[in-house]
Amino acid sequence: MVGPPPPTWAIDPAAARAFEVLPGLWQLRLPTPWEHMSHVNAFAIDHDDGGIVLVDTGGAGHPSAWETLEHVLGLAGRSVSDIREIVVTHFHSDHVGLAGPLAAESGATVWAHPAREHLFDAIEEPDAVYARRLAFARAEGVPEEWQDAVASIAEELDGVEAVPRGDRELVDGVTVDTALGAFEVIETPGHAPSHVVLYQPERRLLFSADIVSPVFTTYGDWGYSEDPIGEYRTALERVAELDVALALPGHGRPTEHLSDLLDLYRTGFEQRLAAVTSARGDGAWAVSQEAFEPPAFRPVAVWNCYEAAGYLTHAAG
Ligand SMILES: [Zn+2]
Ligand SMILES: [Zn+2]
Repeated sequence: MVGPPPPTWAIDPAAARAFEVLPGLWQLRLPTPWEHMSHVNAFAIDHDDGGIVLVDTGGAGHPSAWETLEHVLGLAGRSVSDIREIVVTHFHSDHVGLAGPLAAESGATVWAHPAREHLFDAIEEPDAVYARRLAFARAEGVPEEWQDAVASIAEELDGVEAVPRGDRELVDGVTVDTALGAFEVIETPGHAPSHVVLYQPERRLLFSADIVSPVFTTYGDWGYSEDPIGEYRTALERVAELDVALALPGHGRPTEHLSDLLDLYRTGFEQRLAAVTSARGDGAWAVSQEAFEPPAFRPVAVWNCYEAAGYLTHAAG
């Protein structure tokens, strides 16, 4: 079966938290309904006109998501009507989910990278995407009982609602003005083709989104790049050139030790690439089973298969 899943989940607004990182900058910690990921961060930054710039939004698809964002904005002394700009770091549902409903309610401008097909294809032509992935699964030796999970577009669509394409493009050279100064856009594909980070050089602040997490996780969106692993490694080195005092990630706590996480990822890529290239199995599924740790959660087995395919392409290139 393909098509958008029904909203079967709810989140508890009372579990959300707001932390004032700096005067004029709040971390909004939003719970997710997912077993493999407890929360996602959005950030509210003061805007010069008295409103706010919202970086990422949390997911949508259930009324409790909206209630949670309203609740957490309230903890920061704000409301939806204060939102002037919505900055989408990438088109994954936990980051962009509520952008459409929020923009409709507040009139905010939405900023996002134009490489959005990895989500919009799933929304607009789910059957075609499912068919492409099923062909991939069969070609890569995915066992019958896992083929539907590998082909499924349910994960992309879990938590999105009326996703906007974006009014302004977040590409290299663009800046987003806030009361804390202008943030420079840096394109960092790899985790997703639409992934960007935003850097404020005077304050040395970085919205690092999902480029690094405390646990090495790459994700990627299969079928939208020749070499997502290569792009990801290049993006890490672009970020490594920045002088960052405080990184504000999409998951986990703000950190003064971005370079440690960059090292974790450099090592992680090297180790996984080595494990994949020394595996003897035939096809991405067998290679992923042989090369990687047994997955703790079911979706991870699927990600591992796509990731193994990514390393095989990277190694061949
Ligand atoms: Zn993501
Ligand atoms: Zn994320």
